[in-house]
Amino acid sequence: MDTRFPTIFVSHGAPSIILDDSPARDFLRQLGKDLGRPKAIVCVSAHWTTLEPRVTMHPQPGMIYDFGGFPDELYSLTYPAPGDPVLATHVLSLLQSRHIPAGQNLSRGFDHGAWTPLMLMYPDADIPVVQLSVQPQLEPEHHLAVGKALQPLRDEGILILASGSTTHNLRDFFGRELNSEPLPYAREFAEWVKDVITSGRTDELLDYTHQGPHALKNHPSPEHILPLFVSMGAGETGRVLHDSYTYGAISMAGFSWD
Ligand code: ZN
Repeated sequence: MDTRFPTIFVSHGAPSIILDDSPARDFLRQLGKDLGRPKAIVCVSAHWTTLEPRVTMHPQPGMIYDFGGFPDELYSLTYPAPGDPVLATHVLSLLQSRHIPAGQNLSRGFDHGAWTPLMLMYPDADIPVVQLSVQPQLEPEHHLAVGKALQPLRDEGILILASGSTTHNLRDFFGRELNSEPLPYAREFAEWVKDVITSGRTDELLDYTHQGPHALKNHPSPEHILPLFVSMGAGETGRVLHDSYTYGAISMAGFSWD
């Protein structure tokens, strides 16, 4: 029988997380070991935004260095994990069976929302990875429905890994040090997210723009919180896996759902 994995949401932080020592880096390195080895990974990344869900079909995805102003060393990193066109087709059929229009992308490689956590979690890069996009113009409910549609994958030894950020105010991120004290508005929102997830108040989280403290300051645009709803939709009972901050404004909180 295949291992049933929890669904995971991680905050990927700045791409320099690969280079700099931090509690979040330690957490991601340990997370891959704790979870064990899935047959394949479906990675929902905040850094791929489309009008309707898209899945990557390329059998050997390349690298996308979709960031600027970071150390040169980061632009030569590679993550040579294979793609998995058969799994990608399966993901599409699961979405379409729930009447969620979705399509494929034949050429896209791995963006840093995917490769930064994967490089730390599974450094051998030998587990096939399919990426799935988010839809910033659609509601959290849509992303929850995408997650629900993906649930059957969990009984097939597939890991659903969502990668975004629990808080994500880039204006306050720039100019701050890695170990800066968390800004009060970021801490307040991250604490609220932890609370609603662990007490199963899904409806409140879906309405985060109204009910979350300083929601729009923490997420001036929604793409970094949307992966969280996909992982939540694919699971049931939520718990906190990790809690730390980088650059004062970026909560690195990670969650799992059984
Ligand atoms: Zn990001």
